[in-house]
Amino acid sequence: MANIFLQNTLSGKKEIFRPIKEGQVSMYNCGPTVYDYAHIGNLRSYVFADILRRMFEYNRYKVNQIINITDIGHLTSDADEGEDKMAKALKREGKPMTLEAMREVADFYFEKFKDDLVQLNIKLPSHFPFASEHISEDIELIQKLLDKGYTYAISDGLYFDTSKFSDYGKLGGLAPIDTDHSRIGANPEKKSLRDFVLWKFNRELGYDSPFGHGFPGWHIECSAMSRKYLGQPFDIHTGGIDHIPVHHNNEIAQSEAAYDAPLANIWMHNSFLTINKGKMAKSEGNFITLNTLKEKGIDPLALRYFYLTTHYSSPMNFTWQALKGAQIAWKKLRNFVSRTVLDSKDMSKGTFDIYKEKFTTYINDDLDTPQALALVWEIVKDKNINQRDKRDLILYFDKVIGLKLDKVDDVPKNIQKLIEEINEARMEKDFAKSDKLRKEIESFGFEVMDTPEGTKVEKK
Ligand code: AMP
Ligand code: ZN
Repeated sequence: MANIFLQNTLSGKKEIFRPIKEGQVSMYNCGPTVYDYAHIGNLRSYVFADILRRMFEYNRYKVNQIINITDIGHLTSDADEGEDKMAKALKREGKPMTLEAMREVADFYFEKFKDDLVQLNIKLPSHFPFASEHISEDIELIQKLLDKGYTYAISDGLYFDTSKFSDYGKLGGLAPIDTDHSRIGANPEKKSLRDFVLWKFNRELGYDSPFGHGFPGWHIECSAMSRKYLGQPFDIHTGGIDHIPVHHNNEIAQSEAAYDAPLANIWMHNSFLTINKGKMAKSEGNFITLNTLKEKGIDPLALRYFYLTTHYSSPMNFTWQALKGAQIAWKKLRNFVSRTVLDSKDMSKGTFDIYKEKFTTYINDDLDTPQALALVWEIVKDKNINQRDKRDLILYFDKVIGLKLDKVDDVPKNIQKLIEEINEARMEKDFAKSDKLRKEIESFGFEVMDTPEGTKVEKK
């Protein structure tokens, strides 16, 4: 097996990947809080996780992948201040403040999220565990922390005492707290600013627990669900870089304090998608959804191509112009593959292997997708290999980059009929008629191409 190198936020280094179980990878991708549509910043996280999974599969690993669904307990500030995001959604949508209504809202946005993943050709994980279905696992973990003396209660909840966990903040190396400024808006009852809620009290809504009625904290949910489905430690934990300072350090603290074992061996984080140089975020009101893109004639797979042009760990700025450029490039590539004529002899195995080796090197080097894409274009332009082999190679790599390069747009029935008529006109050498038909097809927004196998069309 070829070596795989991954940048580990925990060690701050690029490391050779060594699985816990031979030939297998267990991976947890922090999932969405389903109180609204996902935006294309969020979706960058899941395309990154999908490339990671596909890279492992390309290297013949079996991947057990979990994406959790947060349908309760996430407050508007990741540091456990503010309103509950799901409660906010209930108000926004004029629904009653009940657990059933919360689940209704969650199911609706979960389905939308899943649709987004499918349209981006993201493989679905082994499980999408919902936080609301894992209350007993949360309670068990919190109980363990309580028994070991890591908690304290204040008026609004049971908290984790970060001063008791000497390794607190090891992920990404947290800077000392700027006490003069950070206290603003923070809960004055907390012993330390970084202490976080394990169980939030709520008399009206929520679940019974030995600690009181209420909701689990957002961080404990990920610790409990990852342990249930993947064990502890598992191989890889991912999320956006915004999760490093709070959410992931909190997950590490509570899981490791409770069970005296690391939570995950490798922590990987994607950088932000920005717009006008600011983070794309629901709270900033500057977010764009996949639907908006589609309304503007952008195919979700063009967005996937756009993401891959930048390394996952670098920030990337969104502009319509850049996205349109990505769509043109993606279509060109797809057209190239669909136009290749299946003919002639195979290229020498040597050339094939050289390209494969290069691709493996790039993708195994911490998912270097910009280099992998550049290699695909190099193959397109290589004058020394035949069309059929180019196609085979590109489609082989497409298993990892996932751009559906083998799929030709569905051609509507009326267009198919016009194509048949063109082919007949050609057979009869009635070129005036075939030209007229060609123009008619073009007026429906299709490009017409003559190939040795007959007339083909592509959406312009
Ligand atoms: P959330 O639903 O807010 O918990 O976010 C889901 C995922 O999207 C998390 O992994 C976040 O870190 C990530 N994320 C949020 N905003 C962005 C952004 N602008 N660019 C890239 N990833 C983001
Ligand atoms: Zn999480």
